[in-house]
Amino acid sequence: MNVLITGGSGFIGRALCARLAAGGHRLIVLSRRPAKARPLLPVDTRVVASLDEIDDDEALDGIVNLAGENLFSGRWTAPRKDRLLASRVETTAAVIALARRLRRTPEVLVSGSAVGFYGDAGDAELTEHSSARRKDFGYRLCDAWEQRARDALSLGMRLCVIRTGIVLGRDGGMLAKLWPMYRLGLGARLGKGSQWLSWIHIEDMVTILERALETPGVDGVFNATAPNPVTQRGFHRALAAAAHRPAPWVAPAPLLKLMLGELSDMLLGGQRVYPRRLEDQGFVFRFPRLEDALADLAG
Ligand code: NDP
Repeated sequence: MNVLITGGSGFIGRALCARLAAGGHRLIVLSRRPAKARPLLPVDTRVVASLDEIDDDEALDGIVNLAGENLFSGRWTAPRKDRLLASRVETTAAVIALARRLRRTPEVLVSGSAVGFYGDAGDAELTEHSSARRKDFGYRLCDAWEQRARDALSLGMRLCVIRTGIVLGRDGGMLAKLWPMYRLGLGARLGKGSQWLSWIHIEDMVTILERALETPGVDGVFNATAPNPVTQRGFHRALAAAAHRPAPWVAPAPLLKLMLGELSDMLLGGQRVYPRRLEDQGFVFRFPRLEDALADLAG
């Protein structure tokens, strides 16, 4: 397939590009900084700084849409929240405009979202059929992102929306930040620790994106989370065990609120999410259990 990937230079995007290139797909990556992105990507990847560089008669088969400013890039001030939202919604709108402009409409759009769509949901067990429990910023961000992606349906495209949990991998995301701290014995439980954390190993994440892209007939919303979500306390203990270090520390909620402001909501709240639709469709996770995922990544 000839595939356009936005956010292809990011943590998930790089792993996806490597997999797709190995599978024989031709890749175009949208990046704000092509010179920086190019060395991170498979050699034959075409990198464009703007979708205007793509001709009307480009034979694109699919689009994977992952671009967005990192949610942990700083305190959620009003201007930053605008940027977090705009970077996703405007990129998605640009992707839809491209699909509309092309002489041949791409067959599929695989578009990102996050389990933050469900809001801070306490102990509720969430599937793709659940609605948001709290309409916080996480919900508003994901909802706006998903709404814009839905415009692909009016073009007759197949649409997969991937509500992603915390992606665990060596080369980026939360684990790359936490692992050095845990190795030093400085990892800390966040707040009470009873909040839920839905996670997924990067390898399973990439397989889900690849399958959504390649499989005719697969469409709709998918929770991309391992089938065994854990509490923050369980996550903290598993990480400390994988790092072979004690884990006596606690980062109290008031301290996190003071340091991070509203961004602390993402750490002190959570979602207990189940990948019901993937399981119904027979998807087999390579890493269904956190301990195995961490053993793989720590190895
Ligand atoms: P990264 O932050 O690693 O990469 C995101 C990419 O988006 C960057 O490489 C960048 O590409 C592009 N980007 C960043 N800021 C902007 C901006 N202001 N405007 C346009 N493009 C921008 O993210 P991940 O790979 O970790 O995640 C991919 C997507 O999945 C993100 O949208 C993220 O919110 C979502 N997600 C990630 C999870 C995780 O655990 N990693 C969990 C749930 C959802 P370039 O600099 O080349 O333009």
